[in-house]
Amino acid sequence: MQCIVLFGIQGSGKGTQAKRLSEALGYSHINIGDLLRDHVARNTKLGHKVQDIISSGALVDDHVIFDLLESILHEHVDGIIFDGFPRTVAQADYLVHHFEVQEVLFLELSEEEAIKRISSRRVCPQCAANYNILTRKPRLEGVCDVCGTELEMRADDTPEAVHKRFEQFFEQTHQLIDYFEDLGMLYKVNASRSEQEIFADISKHLSNKGF
Ligand code: AMP
Repeated sequence: MQCIVLFGIQGSGKGTQAKRLSEALGYSHINIGDLLRDHVARNTKLGHKVQDIISSGALVDDHVIFDLLESILHEHVDGIIFDGFPRTVAQADYLVHHFEVQEVLFLELSEEEAIKRISSRRVCPQCAANYNILTRKPRLEGVCDVCGTELEMRADDTPEAVHKRFEQFFEQTHQLIDYFEDLGMLYKVNASRSEQEIFADISKHLSNKGF
């Protein structure tokens, strides 16, 4: 199965770009965080297992992530945009052994800018649509454009959990820059620009690569 990977610090816009790319290429958008939150919302066994881990900002065990992926892969035939996977070297090894990795895009953003973006982010608890009260406002303040539900901050966007997620990013995920660079797969994208500029950059890069 062919795939494109997007990774970067929390708040770097992975989800937004992944969604646009999946629409442009006809690939399925897989966001592990959304899948896990869905299990929590549905009170499944997996949801119970990961609920506290997610709200603390820690990473879920690699093998739980691999099992989750295996359970949904048959639904995605054309290709996949991975958003927020891999986050550890073990996950990157899994990825390159199980998938045909076409591109790895690293969204580069400073910690300061990421904190700013996270604090203005809002999410729909019903349909998971994402908003930003500064740059991506809903039509009606505080209400989801898609389903009309009242928007919330994410449960793990508290200062403590954000701190923990940054720590995880620098301890576990940051080393994937070298990992994919050594494989000659990495394209770095300046993510401090607008959503449109970032998407234009990614699209140009992919079209140069024959997409
Ligand atoms: P996200 O929505 O991508 O920020 O993910 C929310 C939370 O889900 C993370 O803080 C982790 O607890 C968990 N999570 C998401 N993706 C992964 C992954 N690839 N590996 C381990 N845990 C993950």
